[in-house]
Amino acid sequence: MSDNDVKHGDETYRWGEPFNSRRWHIFDGGRSLCQNWMYGSATQEVDPENDSYREGKDCKECCRRAGILDDSGQSVDEDAQRGEA
Ligand SMILES: [Zn+2]
Repeated sequence: MSDNDVKHGDETYRWGEPFNSRRWHIFDGGRSLCQNWMYGSATQEVDPENDSYREGKDCKECCRRAGILDDSGQSVDEDAQRGEA
């Protein structure tokens, strides 16, 4: 008899900072999105609306995969300098 009580449906990403890591990674279950870390104590939920990648603090790969770092969306500060008269 198998009592395979698999829970699924929890797709919440959570922030976690494993001991050996100096970066915050984002975990889907116990595995980081960048696949480099296993960590079971990630508790802070990722809020895609408000969280953003912090240079030097967060794992870039995780942020990219979680959708809070948009590499393709270059900042639009291309204020075309037009010839001034
Ligand atoms: Zn990571």
